[in-house]
Amino acid sequence: MEIIVAKHMGFCGGVKRAVEMAQGAAQQADGPVFTWGPLIHNPQVVQRLQAEGVQLTEQLNGLEGEAFVVSAYGVEHAVLEHARAKGMRVVDATCPVVIRAHQLAYKLADEGYQLIVVGDHGHPEMVTLKEVLGDKVTIVHTLEEARRVKVRGKVGVMSQTTQSLENFRQIVAHLAVRAKELKVLNTLCPAITVRQEEAERLVEEVDALVVVGGHGSSNTTRLTELGRTHAVTTYHIEVPDELDPAWFAGVEKVGVMSGASTPDWIITQVLHRLQEIGDAQAVNAAVS
Ligand code: SF4
Repeated sequence: MEIIVAKHMGFCGGVKRAVEMAQGAAQQADGPVFTWGPLIHNPQVVQRLQAEGVQLTEQLNGLEGEAFVVSAYGVEHAVLEHARAKGMRVVDATCPVVIRAHQLAYKLADEGYQLIVVGDHGHPEMVTLKEVLGDKVTIVHTLEEARRVKVRGKVGVMSQTTQSLENFRQIVAHLAVRAKELKVLNTLCPAITVRQEEAERLVEEVDALVVVGGHGSSNTTRLTELGRTHAVTTYHIEVPDELDPAWFAGVEKVGVMSGASTPDWIITQVLHRLQEIGDAQAVNAAVS
């Protein structure tokens, strides 16, 4: 079995920065360091961070200590204010790409556009946007949801940074024929779109695709959906133990991709396991 590894693997810049900031905060601290929920959507990394002194809570009464690390996707205002009120040092690891997207959203709303954002309901990036803009923003996850939006005057549309490029395209195309005026801002993160574009090329070459990343990771799930949309048998795994040798019976070429919050050490373990299963001599060079 031939193993083709995608070129863009492992942490994106924003996740790498957030993890390093949390580790730095734990090293410097004399007291507890907290995040609100998982710092990133990868349970194995979160476990390692806990071992290094970065605790997580989702209860305000549990949020007390020396430092509070804001995740790459930001945090709700009430949580931040609580941490400050408790005298915690705030380490803001919000990704600059997310900050920029939110600023663009505020500007569109200020300019009087009916703001529609393609995103996951409940994703921290959308929750914090809704918190600031309230009724001035409508979050839609699917084309069906976009169809149900009552379109008024001029519409501004943008996307959660980790959304599917294809989903965004479809919703923009739909709104373009409904709105009198449509302003489209591409706020998809380049680190995500480059992986999705690479996935589109990779699925043309392989019989099966393995996507490595947290089961709760939005961008990893998008890569999995993309493989399945192209009718390539696609497996979403977090750790190498999930790989079942039976999946690869008769498979000549398998592609391997990862989400943006998947650490290199898990990718290495997955590749070793695939080499064992497929009796592969070597992992191929990256696809162009
Ligand atoms: S995927 Fe993009 S927006 Fe999200 S943390 Fe990484 S660099 Fe930032």
